[in-house]
Amino acid sequence: MVALKAKGVHPGLAVIIVGDDPASRIYVNNKKKACEYVGFRSEEYALPANTTQEELLALIDTLNQSDIDGILCQLPLPAHLDEKAVINAIRPDKDVDAFHPVNVGKIMIGDYDFLPCTPAGVMELIRESGIDIRGKECVVIGRSNIVGKPMSMLLLHAHGTVTICHSRTVDLAETVRRADIVVAAVGVPELIRGDMIKEGAVVIDVGMNRLSDGRLVGDVAFSEASEKASAITPVPGGVGPMTIAMLMQNR
Ligand code: NAP
Repeated sequence: MVALKAKGVHPGLAVIIVGDDPASRIYVNNKKKACEYVGFRSEEYALPANTTQEELLALIDTLNQSDIDGILCQLPLPAHLDEKAVINAIRPDKDVDAFHPVNVGKIMIGDYDFLPCTPAGVMELIRESGIDIRGKECVVIGRSNIVGKPMSMLLLHAHGTVTICHSRTVDLAETVRRADIVVAAVGVPELIRGDMIKEGAVVIDVGMNRLSDGRLVGDVAFSEASEKASAITPVPGGVGPMTIAMLMQNR
């Protein structure tokens, strides 16, 4: 960052938030704080929930043509807005989330400029922990475009043998039991129990689920799974902070 500043480069990220979803507000505030921490310029565009598709696309068009380096539109959008059209409207070289089909395709062929922040954070955690993915049985639970699918591609590029599970998977427990590396990105509190984890497996919990009593838990039953796992990420404090760190790296 110091080197960039010395060269007169002061990267900027535009964050668009539509409506007042409390979870989205927390994510956006964290991203803004991280921008300030690393010395980026961050511009927030907080639009009312009744913003029209045309208004949102006009803002993206303006940002596409401005000197801002990255554009991030916080999802989910209110139901009347077309998420796909919004993702497609962001210029691929400013798409720090890597959701644009051009960037998704680049991830598929392993020749990418940006990575979606959550899967990138998971890969960084695995790498930093000195875990070798080559030849390992990797089971990803969840097939969303944001987490599950790109996660699976990154593990595959790192030479893992990858299985993707989803809501129609017939025997989830048996599939997860085969895994040397488990990545849970489901959104169901503590779905993955200790008896599904192979002795010595690496367990990465992407899930962030708010319970009715206010507690934040992951998709993995942490205390049960940690008795079996050789390494496991907690929720909160595991994958979440890595996601933000990766977003900063994309700029
Ligand atoms: P999503 O779009 O709702 O996708 C959830 C996936 O889980 C779907 O593929 C779904 O299968 C699958 N699934 C649902 N119930 C299942 C079950 N009982 N057994 C097996 N698979 C099941 O969610 P997402 O956006 O990927 O997010 C997943 C979780 O990660 C959420 O808790 C979210 O809050 C969290 N998250 C965390 C971060 C972070 O920074 N830490 C970032 C993004 C997301 P189908 O495809 O068949 O419906």
